[in-house]
Amino acid sequence: MRYLDAAATTPVRREVLEAMWPYLTGEFGNASSHHGLGEAAARALTGAREQVASALGARPSEIVFTAGGTEADNLAVKGLALARPRGRVVVTSVVEHPAVLEACDYLERFHGFRIHRLGVDADGVVDLAEAEQVVDDDTTLVSVMLANNEIGTVQPVAELAAIARRAGALVHTDAVQAVGSLPVDTAQLGVDALSLSGHKLGAPKGTGALWLRRGVALEPLVHGGGQEGGRRSGTENVAGAVGLATALQTVTGPERPGERAALAAARDAFVREVLAGVPGALLTGHPEQRLPGHASFCLPGTSGEAVLLTLEQEHGIVCSSGSACAAGSDEASDVLLALGLEPAVAQTAVRFVGSTAADFAGAAPAVVHAVTTVRALAG
Ligand code: PLP
Repeated sequence: MRYLDAAATTPVRREVLEAMWPYLTGEFGNASSHHGLGEAAARALTGAREQVASALGARPSEIVFTAGGTEADNLAVKGLALARPRGRVVVTSVVEHPAVLEACDYLERFHGFRIHRLGVDADGVVDLAEAEQVVDDDTTLVSVMLANNEIGTVQPVAELAAIARRAGALVHTDAVQAVGSLPVDTAQLGVDALSLSGHKLGAPKGTGALWLRRGVALEPLVHGGGQEGGRRSGTENVAGAVGLATALQTVTGPERPGERAALAAARDAFVREVLAGVPGALLTGHPEQRLPGHASFCLPGTSGEAVLLTLEQEHGIVCSSGSACAAGSDEASDVLLALGLEPAVAQTAVRFVGSTAADFAGAAPAVVHAVTTVRALAG
């Protein structure tokens, strides 16, 4: 099998599992317990917090471990908006992950916030001029993702953060797809909060973190024993935190820039071959400002689902039609419609996301063949 669905999830890395193993077995203590086992667990948690912080250019006390990216997004959007006395408007974008969009809808329905959803251009880049116009002293929070899961476009988050700061608004970015694929430094971005998820990096599903700038008030969503500095109650997932930290250290290691450049070059060659071999194919998302391992297309004259099935059955290639969350639904993706694509074209979307250059090697002829087969069958 050739796995080209790394935006959906990744397998747990061997070194991650090995780092976690002791905290699932012999060192199984509760990090709040006052005995040797508990203290060992607390030390492991402290070490994991330090590692996550150092990978993001942050302080350990600014890391809140969560059960994944969705929780981190919810905690940021709801927690910052509800804790913040000023303003009644949350500014986000039309291409956010549902974890952010639905959290905004919740604020609108139950807490009287108004939500402004910024538009995007044909490459999926958020409209900075619109942000300049709408972000003002009634804006509580701006939440825009660092990179999009469906089309790979990298957003100008530092510019958006500057606009928000001038207006005195807080800024959150969903960096779930970006961390590990791009250099991510909280200070350079100028944001106040950043979400990440372990299972996109080779840590287990259900692990993640929210980075929260020191001194920024947050209303917790989960109440209880006051763990994570009162920001997220619940007995800590020590092994999960250790796994997340180990994965993060690996994907931000010193050899990564070279690997990313090789991945982007292999992806570019794949894109060129697919576009040359499939008449009418179009790349979705920004051609350059995109995640290095991400290639997404619309392939008119097919259905994304049919291409996906043909690729798996005939070529052993695993990919995705649109986003995993929308998989199985016949609805055209809102992200693709936001680019201005016709629904019939948006329904032909297929996404290929690799983790290494080798993932793309020799894959393009199979894609061309699968599309040709599906088109021939469609008639
Ligand atoms: N945000 C983005 C951009 C994502 O791609 C995803 C997952 O696909 C999430 C948030 C949710 O993360 P998790 O699956 O860890 O809940």
